[in-house]
Amino acid sequence: MTPPRALPRIVERSLRPVGGRCYRHCDQPLRFHALRLGGPGTGWVLACPSGVVSVTRYVEWGDRPPTARLWRELRRRTVPPTLVRRRDLRSATRHGPELGRPAERDLARRPGGAARVVYWRLYPFRRRGLEHRLFVCLRHGRREAVFFAAPTAGEVPRCPRCGSAVGPRRRSNP
Ligand SMILES: [Zn+2]
Ligand SMILES: [Zn+2]
Repeated sequence: MTPPRALPRIVERSLRPVGGRCYRHCDQPLRFHALRLGGPGTGWVLACPSGVVSVTRYVEWGDRPPTARLWRELRRRTVPPTLVRRRDLRSATRHGPELGRPAERDLARRPGGAARVVYWRLYPFRRRGLEHRLFVCLRHGRREAVFFAAPTAGEVPRCPRCGSAVGPRRRSNP
């Protein structure tokens, strides 16, 4: 039996994000990293090799979107927490047919509920004349990713919690 609100594995598989490339930043392939985001469901962050976040998603099984709880969980992992705004969290519901046949067959045996997906997307913004983007530090384990905003030009950004340089090292210009 699947415990309440945990995502059936077959549904999780059909909802795994597909790659793409880092849009208007480095054009490198995006990779997704599984994250625990506090609830019983599954989270992923899709980021480029430099740690620039494209989107963060969370999915759980339930009757309503877990948006409010996810908002709190993301704020706990974000420096400063005010970067996580409710209007940047979008939810969607996935039922059966769009998930593919195996998932659809599985869902037909589960009365009620649906896969509730919440997306967090922070678009690039300018501060003091510099373009800033959302970065993620993945050195804290799957439960404790750290999100922060930093300029995309200049030095490699450092995680505000552990001080590590995020992403591949750039050659320094003498
Ligand atoms: Zn990039
Ligand atoms: Zn860190």
